[in-house]
Amino acid sequence: MPETPAPLVEAGELLIDRRRRIDRPLAERLVALADDHLPELLGLAHRVRLAWMGPAVEVESIISAKTGGCPEDCTFCSQSARYTTGVARRPMLPTAALVDLARRTRALGGTEFCIVVAVRGPDERMMREVCAAASAIHAEVEIEVAASLGLLRDGQAEMLAAAGIHRYNHNLEAGPRFFPRICSTHSFDDRVDTCRKVIAAGMELCSGGIFGMGETWDDRLDLAFTLAGLGAREIPCNFLDPRPGTPLGTVPLLAPLDALRCVAVLRCVVPDAVLRYAGGRELVLRDLQAYGMLAGANGLIVGNYLTTLGRSAERDLAMLADLGMPVAERPLTGTAGLRPV
Ligand code: SF4
Repeated sequence: MPETPAPLVEAGELLIDRRRRIDRPLAERLVALADDHLPELLGLAHRVRLAWMGPAVEVESIISAKTGGCPEDCTFCSQSARYTTGVARRPMLPTAALVDLARRTRALGGTEFCIVVAVRGPDERMMREVCAAASAIHAEVEIEVAASLGLLRDGQAEMLAAAGIHRYNHNLEAGPRFFPRICSTHSFDDRVDTCRKVIAAGMELCSGGIFGMGETWDDRLDLAFTLAGLGAREIPCNFLDPRPGTPLGTVPLLAPLDALRCVAVLRCVVPDAVLRYAGGRELVLRDLQAYGMLAGANGLIVGNYLTTLGRSAERDLAMLADLGMPVAERPLTGTAGLRPV
């Protein structure tokens, strides 16, 4: 029987036996494992997830409450007003529509409903509308409300927290060295600053990235270790779906095995966060989607993404049932600083 490579043994001892984190050099050795050893890496990541987070999967939905027309120039984004992408601009959805969508999410077993708007950051009117929607949803639906409204100014995170928004999404999207290649209208540090405001206001930070934009493995590890350092409680793991009309519209798709390695390495670097298997998985992983759930992911967006269609929620829930993975009855909480389960 072939020997298990040393990096897998060392990572297993640290993460599972000693409940410690791995450092950057060990993560680099995991990244460098040959494809022959990928099944063992996925298996390690799955055991790490079970040890730190348990078997349940958090099911969520995101709703694009205001679509298109964003002034920023993120090169992957079909909602930027700078590119001709065919995404129709749509103003803010009314509160009643958001309550109805939250109710439908709950009926599917979802425990979190995330209100997403395409803006650089919220103005006062949008803050009022989102806070009112969060209150209305809380009054009528048993579900946690999250929000993703872009860059926050001083005081805004506190207002959202006071409105009962428990988690705020603000993706870093890429590591600090690669970020200037995908956005020039705001900086990586601007994004980190908002992430810090979220945590300081007492909300959980949801922050992740997109893989397959042309970044290197060093860039991916930069992102993973930055997220670990920030204390992200949820990490969306997106794969680039090259949208026609955007500057990244012709970038080749990430190879499925690389995508699975991204999930597994991210889980090993951040053992104590919800790792949300998010946009692009249908396109990039195709028949291998279920493997991502066996590679350390423990969160799932069901239904559609912001501007692209996902497969049906029923198919995703059937996948979880086939995998023997229970749907979490409430949002999962990472175990940062606590003893893993
Ligand atoms: S700030 Fe957000 S919505 Fe605007 S272009 Fe960038 S990713 Fe798209």
